[in-house]
Amino acid sequence: MFTLIKNAEIYSPDQMGVNDVLIAGSKIAAIQPNISIPKGLPDLMEIDGSRKLLAPGFIDQHVHIAGGGGEGGPVSRTPEITLSKLTLAGVTTVIGLLGVDGITRSIAELLAKARALEEEGITAYIYTGAYEIPTRTLTGNVRSDLVLIDKVIGTGEIAISDHRSAQPTLEMLTKLASESRVGGLLGKKPGIVHIHIGDGKQGLSLLFEIMKNTDIPITQFVPTHVNRLDRLFDEAVEFLKLGGNIDLTAGITKENESPHALEVHEALEHLVEVKANLDRVTVSSDANGSMPRFDKDGRIIGIGIGSITELWKDIAKAVRKKVIPLPTALALVTRNVAELLKLSPAKGIIAVDSDADIVLLDKDYNIDTVIAKGKLMVQNGQALVHGYFEE
Ligand code: ZN
Repeated sequence: MFTLIKNAEIYSPDQMGVNDVLIAGSKIAAIQPNISIPKGLPDLMEIDGSRKLLAPGFIDQHVHIAGGGGEGGPVSRTPEITLSKLTLAGVTTVIGLLGVDGITRSIAELLAKARALEEEGITAYIYTGAYEIPTRTLTGNVRSDLVLIDKVIGTGEIAISDHRSAQPTLEMLTKLASESRVGGLLGKKPGIVHIHIGDGKQGLSLLFEIMKNTDIPITQFVPTHVNRLDRLFDEAVEFLKLGGNIDLTAGITKENESPHALEVHEALEHLVEVKANLDRVTVSSDANGSMPRFDKDGRIIGIGIGSITELWKDIAKAVRKKVIPLPTALALVTRNVAELLKLSPAKGIIAVDSDADIVLLDKDYNIDTVIAKGKLMVQNGQALVHGYFEE
């Protein structure tokens, strides 16, 4: 099966000018101007890419693919995500994870959901673990999950600085990080620990202490939700300057999170001001996770659900506001994530021999077409392929 995309402006995510892109099977076979196809080639589909921007498919490293939540009791357990929700948001690679509920949710369930999404046409991995330490695993510990289960590429989301965390001590978190690190080495995986940072008093202090007191490298941790509070974000900037990676959460607003929260475009504006290394910054959606609100006494007063459409919406907003140029914006959900999670060069870039995971944007940066592993999933903003039980 061949697909030829004609005359698209290519962002690899770097700007590469107008080219044709030839897809053979699930891979990109050629990128050059005026590719001509021999007559009689069977199974050729042509897509008009003129007036379109062609980018790598997005990688979302924080999605509760099998559902999450539950802070408001069983009724508030959030549902699984469906294939078309992901593809309509431009996401062609997803990393699934558990959250606060490691009791009624399991790594087995998460693994099965990742395999289902893979069969439905996109690429899916998972983190082992949940908020708590000792954390949830499939084989008994984090190290062996990483070594033995192909789809497990890291550990997360482990909660710190949150009233819903296990209140881990320095020793507990250090031990977990070393298990994840060694498991990653033995299993040839990134082995990173994806850290949920809550709005608690401790902020990133545990991570700074580990840096100071142990030999675990700073790159072992990826703190996320760091834009939920300005004081937390200041610490994250420090973490970034020390050589760490940070992950922003899309969909956070002053209304749904805190008057002291930073929207993605505001966080990015600040990072540009302080000349931070944006190559080490990523954005994820926290889709299908719960967004509970608590009063000052810790009582739950409302609960929402994270949406994957916020991912590109928030990043595109930063481009429209001219906070960052398009290549830098795209890298936040393509190349930067692929490098962090050792998925490149197959993922996160437009290059010959990389996977044919492609998003076509219109000139207003709206998602028009999505191709996953060479298969057309979305066209004219409409899903062509649906999940197994999707209506
Ligand atoms: Zn979280």
